[in-house]
Amino acid sequence: MACKCCQCGSCCSNMRNVHTVVEERGNYTFVVHNAYSGDVKEVRVDPDKIALYEDRSSIEELPDACPFLRFDGKTGKAWCTVHLTRPEICRDYCCWRLLILDWQSKRAGRVMYQTTFIPDTEELRRLWEGVQPTLGGLCGTEWDDAVISALTAAGYRVRR
Ligand code: SF4
Ligand code: SF4
Repeated sequence: MACKCCQCGSCCSNMRNVHTVVEERGNYTFVVHNAYSGDVKEVRVDPDKIALYEDRSSIEELPDACPFLRFDGKTGKAWCTVHLTRPEICRDYCCWRLLILDWQSKRAGRVMYQTTFIPDTEELRRLWEGVQPTLGGLCGTEWDDAVISALTAAGYRVRR
């Protein structure tokens, strides 16, 4: 299954030092510099997200957030307010290769790259501490299958 974003916003919550607004062109149009690639890109707030963009309260507690990130107060979901014109790095980004869901179908963790395991919960972190030592020498689909088997036995669902 392809990477499906659940709009938690964590990837955009630390992008302020990557995406810097270097010019404001008016009419909700900005020029953004990417500190990693050096790319310069014009972005524009989506017409249906202007009110959301104007309300900065949802990122007041996130000083490192991308300037275009906002959270919907009702659902808690994150929105990129320049989604239609967002930079390439954001279009290509996928935060997981394996997605781990708990019994309520809430994200509990993810696997990035080959074997980088990132638990979101303390419970999954503890489980992983027990599983990881059993995986020595495995790689590729064998590693995936062993991890999925261990997590499934513990009540999680894993999407790939
Ligand atoms: S790409 Fe991943 S980290 Fe970023 S908002 Fe979506 S689910 Fe969250
Ligand atoms: S431009 Fe949008 S997708 Fe990219 S980091 Fe900012 S909020 Fe996230």
